[in-house]
Amino acid sequence: MSARHTAIESISNHQVASTQDYLAHAGEEIYGQYVFHEAAQRQFLAKPIFKRLRRTIEGLEPFDPVIADAVAHGVKEWALSHGATHYTHWFVPMTGSTAEKHDSFLSPTGDGQTIAEFSGRNLLQGEPDASSFPSGGIRATFEARGYTAWDVTSPIYLQVEPNGVTLTIPTAFVSFTGEALDHKIPMLRSQEALGTQALRVLRWFDNTSASRVFTNIGPEQEYFLVDRRLAEQRPDLVLTGRTLFGAPSPKGQELEDQYFGPIRERILAFMMDLDRELWRLGIPAKTRHNEVAPGQFEMAPVYEPTSVGSDHNMIVLSMMRRLAPRHGLMFLSHEKPFAGINGSGKHNNWSMGTDEGENLLDPGHDPHANAQFLAFLVAVIRGVNAHADILRASIADAGQDHRLGANEAPPAIMSVFLGSQLEDVIEQLEKGAASASKKGGSLELGVTSLPVLPKDATDRNRTSPFAFTGNKFEFRAVGSSAPIYWPQTVLNTAVADSLCQLADELEKLDHGDFEGLTSILSRIVRANKQVLFEGNNYSEEWHAEAARRGLPNNRTTVDALPALTTQKAKDVFAKFGVLSERELAARVDINWERYVKVQNIEANCALDMARTMIVPATAAYLGQLAGGSASKGIAAVAEHVAGLADRLVDAIHALEHAQHAAHEAGSVQAEARAFVDQVIPAQNALRAAADELETIVSDELWPLPKYRELLFQY
Ligand code: ADP
Ligand code: MG
Repeated sequence: MSARHTAIESISNHQVASTQDYLAHAGEEIYGQYVFHEAAQRQFLAKPIFKRLRRTIEGLEPFDPVIADAVAHGVKEWALSHGATHYTHWFVPMTGSTAEKHDSFLSPTGDGQTIAEFSGRNLLQGEPDASSFPSGGIRATFEARGYTAWDVTSPIYLQVEPNGVTLTIPTAFVSFTGEALDHKIPMLRSQEALGTQALRVLRWFDNTSASRVFTNIGPEQEYFLVDRRLAEQRPDLVLTGRTLFGAPSPKGQELEDQYFGPIRERILAFMMDLDRELWRLGIPAKTRHNEVAPGQFEMAPVYEPTSVGSDHNMIVLSMMRRLAPRHGLMFLSHEKPFAGINGSGKHNNWSMGTDEGENLLDPGHDPHANAQFLAFLVAVIRGVNAHADILRASIADAGQDHRLGANEAPPAIMSVFLGSQLEDVIEQLEKGAASASKKGGSLELGVTSLPVLPKDATDRNRTSPFAFTGNKFEFRAVGSSAPIYWPQTVLNTAVADSLCQLADELEKLDHGDFEGLTSILSRIVRANKQVLFEGNNYSEEWHAEAARRGLPNNRTTVDALPALTTQKAKDVFAKFGVLSERELAARVDINWERYVKVQNIEANCALDMARTMIVPATAAYLGQLAGGSASKGIAAVAEHVAGLADRLVDAIHALEHAQHAAHEAGSVQAEARAFVDQVIPAQNALRAAADELETIVSDELWPLPKYRELLFQY
């Protein structure tokens, strides 16, 4: 029996294991158990220290290093009381994943004993080797110094593993030169920029009590799970997170029976485990369901301030990756693990709010009369229009190239969906003051036992990359594996830019001059309305219409990244102190490098699999068929397979050539372009030949677990 078939047999005998004592630890009492939250701070810190730390966490005063040792002592006592032996500074370098280096608390005392030590300096600052992380040229190999600095806004937590506990301190990562080497610092700077500009606008509306504006994030996270016994037989899934070969399953997603369908026992066991571990970490996991594609699922937490929610999303991804093997599963965060069925995205629900709890994107009952709401709404519309190119670039990578614009995800064209109610208000505003808002209503279901449902004033549009959904925008074009920080940094900066322009104009008007306000907003609407689109973003007509409107449509990463090198991009990031020109250039360099490296790994992997797995299986099958040459039918099959085998081998050579030629291209940009224009098409041709063979070669001989198995047998 082949390894594939052995795996399938063991899957059918798989017993769903209960890995937790769920009745004893059901919910509330475990929430935040592993977090140094407010109650733990109160318990482990002296009262004055506690009070000052809270003021820093709430953004009211900077951290005073004088209290560092006292805070560190409390943190250590708390961690030791939970069995921690080590601590780590956790950060988000520009690799796209997280980084941590562990140190034990252990400190020898000289008499053959040790004590547990953790100083204020240990808490505040770490010193990882900066030259081993991507720096985009900011640090050379011999210039190794970099620092991690405690991010007080993000909760300290414990990583509790089966064999030990590690105190984990979320930090920012900065070069010896003071430049940001991570995704977090620019995000925090963009929050401050947006907050400052938003407050200027609020002050014009006579809001004098709010002291801070920040953004909230509620990321809906899509992902795939496949059986590990099958997945580990596929080098492509193991190394690249996506299938580089694979004929379509005879049944795919066309019956639409997966979305919101009953959740299989094994998957639910994983989800239960996940939710409970996340709750322990104070991550408010809320929603879970089957997604559209077979083997695809989604989780969503309750929204949180972006600084915390972005870190939490990184922890969610790593927790999923860690827990899946316990259930015999492999977790796939890739944007497009399987061709021909839906890929995965992350829908970033985003809003702006004040420290007093006011949501600045809440239209209320009469949006037309809510001048402050309209001002913020119009600022967002203008931000997306003016900076559509960099927003597109912020979500560009090799994985996204397979997903954006396929018939399942928003296209590469940035547009804003408002819904009929706000669309109508904005159309009124374009001409002058808006005087009415369309109302929702109610739905009578015609059955006395069913309730009358209140009906929203607005439908939804799931094809839009940037959709208004009630009291927030949903940035739906983000990739499933992408850290939240970068797209939100760009969005915050774009909106800060709009709010700044708006505030500049408002500050010339008397407070309460709503006519003046209306004429400013009208003008912004007229200048930016081309970005508004209510229809089907997947359609051909929209691509043509968007071209007529002059909206950028950068289809691939290679088309999208140059937007980050324009003077306009440099200016906006520099003006708001989000990224210096060098910091921006570093990010762009890293994106190019990463794109080429990912494509190159995929080409290497495809070649390896084709040469060592697919060619041998094909040859073996040709050998078998040779024995049946007495039959005309079998001889014809043999001839067909032989033809495909030649195509396969030719395609291998063509891909090798294209890959070599790409390496000779000179600059990394030229190499990336060569990958798009030559290597990827060559790899697609190789895949086409292999996938056709998969549908003909004896099932016994085929070495790679098939789509029908990966997607349906778990
Ligand atoms: P919808 O049905 O509109 O998609 P859900 O209530 O399912 O909304 O929420 C989807 C995500 O949006 C969740 O993570 C939720 O916490 C988040 N969310 C809700 N309100 C806001 C808000 N004001 N700002 C940011 N995110 C929000
Ligand atoms: Mg969804």
